[in-house]
Amino acid sequence: AELDPATRDLVERRARVMGPAYRLFYEHPVQLVRGQGTRVWDAAGREYLDAYNNVPSVGHAHPRVAAAMAEQAATLTTHTRYLAEPTIAYAEDLLSTLPRTVDTIMFTCTGSEANDLALKIAKIATGGTGVIVTENAYHGVTTEIAAISPSLGGLDSVADWVELVPVHGDLGASVGAAIARLEARGIRPAALIVDTVFASDGAWPDVDGFVDAVAAVRRAGGLFIADEVQPGFGRLGHGMWGLERYGLEPDLVTVGKPMGNGQPIAATMARRELVEQFNARSRYFNTFGGSSVSIAAARATLDVLRDEKLIDNAREVGEYLLGELAGSGLFVEVRGVGLFLGARLESESRALATVNALRDRGVLIATSGPANDTLKIRPPLPFSRADADLLLTELDRALG
Ligand code: PMP
Repeated sequence: AELDPATRDLVERRARVMGPAYRLFYEHPVQLVRGQGTRVWDAAGREYLDAYNNVPSVGHAHPRVAAAMAEQAATLTTHTRYLAEPTIAYAEDLLSTLPRTVDTIMFTCTGSEANDLALKIAKIATGGTGVIVTENAYHGVTTEIAAISPSLGGLDSVADWVELVPVHGDLGASVGAAIARLEARGIRPAALIVDTVFASDGAWPDVDGFVDAVAAVRRAGGLFIADEVQPGFGRLGHGMWGLERYGLEPDLVTVGKPMGNGQPIAATMARRELVEQFNARSRYFNTFGGSSVSIAAARATLDVLRDEKLIDNAREVGEYLLGELAGSGLFVEVRGVGLFLGARLESESRALATVNALRDRGVLIATSGPANDTLKIRPPLPFSRADADLLLTELDRALG
């Protein structure tokens, strides 16, 4: 399809200055200029239903989050080396949502940094160097974390201190075997790190043997890092964290993406003893991690999540949408939990064609999964039943 001249011009200018590393969504890229709740608008004033973006989790441009950020920006922006009551109060509140053993927080700006810090803490605390991740894991972009992110492929293909485990079958048995493979190579395990909704592995809601996998890595002297960057902050509609659905007790937890509704704020949370061992051997300061405006955004985001009962909404609308998608007969397979859903089609080309057709019909989603044949539906949490019906209608037309 021919791009209109204005879009073509922007695509060319973008390629000229930003180069080839940043991919664009859609055959006909969208230039978004405004958002509100579950809707976004392009430069021509056209409205789209956003069924994809999880970062503006409590809704695009939420007025309470925007006001909190604006007020803080107009008052003071500083970092964690000064006493700040709002930061401490937020930390107390967030930690109270996790199992009691996880009692200490360190702020970062991105999920990658949070995982990088978690892994460093785990390596120092255990004296081990081995890491176990799932086969198509994505945990971020730092050099260390790219090396445990097999989904990146290419130069970043996993380091020799990493073992991969499949998501299917018994995760406990697979992790046990991975530990044995590490030990056979003389490598002691530092950590098992798992995204608790297995997002880049294709989003699997109920993986067998997860609890046993955690027990196995602990028995071998390693730690369990729960990567809650994707599932966290209520997306799954069951409590705040993906780990709650399995009753897991993590040693470290990493969070990011939806934490500040778009402001870059993320965190590593850990058992105190681990942070003490880390601190005896290393240091950490992150200039922007936990800065005043980021904390204001995170505070307001958490308040809105609770006040607007968005976790209940994620559960209710998610169940409805899952049922309707499964009953539609349009998909090879439908799975997911809360507002994190995947609907698999016959092939990658059909999935991409559907995503582009939906975009032309005013609905934004994307593809995902190891074979890239799955429609990824992961909207802002205020996604209503009417929004779900609109998505279903347009899906039906796009696939019809
Ligand atoms: N962990 C998971 C599970 C993620 O999905 C991502 C981002 N897609 C990250 C970590 C990295 O977060 P960031 O992009 O903020 O560095």
